[in-house]
Amino acid sequence: MEFINLPGFYRFFLGDLEIVVLSDGTATVYTEKMMLNATSGEVSHYLRESYAEADYEASINTFLFRSGGQLILIDTGAGDLMGPTAGHLTESLRAAGYEPGDIDVVLLTHIHGDHSGGLMDNGALAFPNATLYVNQRDFDYWLSEEQMNGVPPARQQSFRNAKAKVGPWKEAGRVKTFLEDLELLPGVFSWAQPGHTPGHTYFTIKNGRHKIVFCADIVHVAEIQLANPDIAITLDVDPQAAVIKRKEFLKLAAEEGFWLAADHTSFPGIGHVRPRGNGYFWIPAKFSVRAGINH
Ligand SMILES: [Zn+2]
Ligand SMILES: [Zn+2]
Repeated sequence: MEFINLPGFYRFFLGDLEIVVLSDGTATVYTEKMMLNATSGEVSHYLRESYAEADYEASINTFLFRSGGQLILIDTGAGDLMGPTAGHLTESLRAAGYEPGDIDVVLLTHIHGDHSGGLMDNGALAFPNATLYVNQRDFDYWLSEEQMNGVPPARQQSFRNAKAKVGPWKEAGRVKTFLEDLELLPGVFSWAQPGHTPGHTYFTIKNGRHKIVFCADIVHVAEIQLANPDIAITLDVDPQAAVIKRKEFLKLAAEEGFWLAADHTSFPGIGHVRPRGNGYFWIPAKFSVRAGINH
């Protein structure tokens, strides 16, 4: 496949804290088949309004920062699960000046293939010195044979992917699970958002008066799901709960004005939300070449 852009990295400063957004590439969301709860013509209306395609190329963003002396990576991209447009995290990491062995902690927002596929690299743990943190509810759900057998065959691949990518970390004794919202690592807070998956989790970091929430799969197609947060996606394990959580979170994000770092909003996926109509719109972070600026 010929690429017109190479997946890369973007450095962002939250106050004086450096966050490196690492692109894993992109994946296609087939909006006509995958969006739920939309009225007739609504999806194509939002796409048209934002000049977006029905076969929507969603970014896969991952995030790197240092806290408490540890180098922390949030999510690992798709690895070899989603074809040649994805699975480029390691290249982006090296381009930014890091090696996979530098990473001390991997935080998973949830165990979908586009977030956990990059945990393995050619049969080995992709981050040889890291400890993996994941919500207990996702760990229990996606690694359960019983849960897999209870869903239609079309939905079983996600369970097999979980076994292939998270399983070896479990066997190596490298997984730490958590249940409650807590300060997981110094300055890093977990925030359960069940719905999209049972253990879907956001992570918050604060630096002085600045705050950013790594909000995972808050939306898959921002142009649609911010405009109407009631619109869910077939990937949601519990679409109704996902909608409730999305609406609660977006309301808070708009009121408080904190930064969002979203896995599938167009790279680098950092921005703010503001209310518009019955929904919201996205204000991307401004491009900057300056180090250490305060936002
Ligand atoms: Zn997901
Ligand atoms: Zn995702």
